[in-house]
Amino acid sequence: MEDQAVARIGHLSRQRRKHQIRGRTAEPAVLAELRQLLGAAPRRRDLLIEYLHKVQDAKGCLPVSWLVALAHEMSLPMAEIYEVATFYHHFDVVREGDAAIPPLTVRVCDSITCEMLGAQKLIDGLRNTVDESQVRIQPVPCVGRCHGAPVAVVGQNPIERADTERVQAAVRAGQTRDLLERTGPECIGYTAYCRGGGYRLLRACRDGDRDPEQIIGQLSESGLRGLGGAGFPVGRKWSILRAQPRPKYLAVNIDEGEPGTFKDRYYLERDPHRFLEGALIAAWAVEAGDIYIYLRDEYAGCRALLERELRELERAPPCPLPTLHLRRGAGAYICGEESAMIESIEGKRGVPRLRPPFVAERGLFDRPTLEHNLESLHWVREILERGAAWFAAQGRRGCSGLRSFSVSGRVRQPGVHLAPAGITVRELIAEHCGGMLPGHEFYGYFPGGASGGILPASLGDLPLDFDTLQEYGCFIGSAAIIVLSQQDRARDAALNSMRFFEHESCGQCTPCRAGAAKAARLMSAPLWNQPLLKELAQVMSDASICGLGQAAPNPMLSVMRYFPQELSNGKTR
Ligand code: SF4
Repeated sequence: MEDQAVARIGHLSRQRRKHQIRGRTAEPAVLAELRQLLGAAPRRRDLLIEYLHKVQDAKGCLPVSWLVALAHEMSLPMAEIYEVATFYHHFDVVREGDAAIPPLTVRVCDSITCEMLGAQKLIDGLRNTVDESQVRIQPVPCVGRCHGAPVAVVGQNPIERADTERVQAAVRAGQTRDLLERTGPECIGYTAYCRGGGYRLLRACRDGDRDPEQIIGQLSESGLRGLGGAGFPVGRKWSILRAQPRPKYLAVNIDEGEPGTFKDRYYLERDPHRFLEGALIAAWAVEAGDIYIYLRDEYAGCRALLERELRELERAPPCPLPTLHLRRGAGAYICGEESAMIESIEGKRGVPRLRPPFVAERGLFDRPTLEHNLESLHWVREILERGAAWFAAQGRRGCSGLRSFSVSGRVRQPGVHLAPAGITVRELIAEHCGGMLPGHEFYGYFPGGASGGILPASLGDLPLDFDTLQEYGCFIGSAAIIVLSQQDRARDAALNSMRFFEHESCGQCTPCRAGAAKAARLMSAPLWNQPLLKELAQVMSDASICGLGQAAPNPMLSVMRYFPQELSNGKTR
């Protein structure tokens, strides 16, 4: 009798398992709606983030019932869907019983430059005046418009030099779209680009008039280095990839999230086909079959523009093209790291990989991958047309090439300024930025965004380039210069950057995850525990897996080294 009961229970539970995904079952109505939303799109694992965006765009959030339906539809464990959806800041997972998300979100950047120029006042002003059941005010990390600080983004509509009144007016008028196409700078579209000689070089390559080895040689001679921050020589990278077995991929990284950096957006808005031609030449030279373009979600206007220009290119291609895929980030700084970006393109959490193997050998979908920042590809055509010697001759003080400096902070003319590598920050301010703002004296500067450290005005005559700032505990990275004046304090800026790294750490390794949180706590105290902070910095830089954790202590160490006067009296302002 007992045996029969046990057998019956076993039979029932097997039956139940047949009809249920473990824990939750997809609701038929939600499943039907999801299927309609996805249409005939393939249910591939690597498209998961694209589909999460589709749901978020349609529903205003990610209800758990939709995640269950997505797990069912894509034949993925619910845990995988959930871990991806909760990793990215731009996804709002809503469980049963959670408060409803207000229909409109206003993101206010509170990274270094925006904080210096009044972000907190803006956040407080908005919170005091908007109906928070209708409008969510969300402080967020850098949105890539530091020259227009402080910046608020109403829905997807970026408002530079924002104040409470202008943001409220946009909210009232329902201006929530990024109208780059109507209000942005003049963009050189496909036809105009071709009229100016664009894609001729690509055609020459494809027609056999140019030799891949010769082109790689020219890029090596020019001294062009990766301009996303790492500075790896471009020609060498292409050589390594060319020697790898097929199939191979090219991944273009337009996830610039380093606070202070906005140069890729600048070029993309104005001249998108220049980097596309560079990418197509690169793919031809290394024999990459597919090109993946990973664009940060904050650049909604650029996404619309790029979709339009890719359509034009594919409608009347100058020659046979490899397959081009445009992928949308979802608000995670760490995806600017090459292996994290690759994970994200594969539809996973953007968690950096342990290396070796390097992405050049085993990258996207485990195949050799050439990974480039937009600006590195932007220069390919010009270098190949004007000659390697032209580019190499551009530097100052023995440096070589040109750098696109994203300048923000206390200068008259912030923005992207193209200048010779090796220029000093004093020269940059005087020759390109119209000097300091009235009433502001040059006090210090970040030479390479939040992770590049902080230098005092007394070191304002150092040449700015790769390899010139290491002995000062700094680096140029993506050439994001944030200029501080006597009205700022380096310790406040360093605390801001440490909080940013705490927020953006992927959490994979303890030195970074716990170290950044602890350092931010210690740096909030009126008096810094300097021995403990130095010990923390050592552990973080020695034992973190990727550059985020390794470089996060740089600004804090700079304050102790160059701005000791700010730490002696415990005053934060
Ligand atoms: Fe993630 Fe930080 Fe470790 Fe990099 S250093 S892998 S961001 S936890």
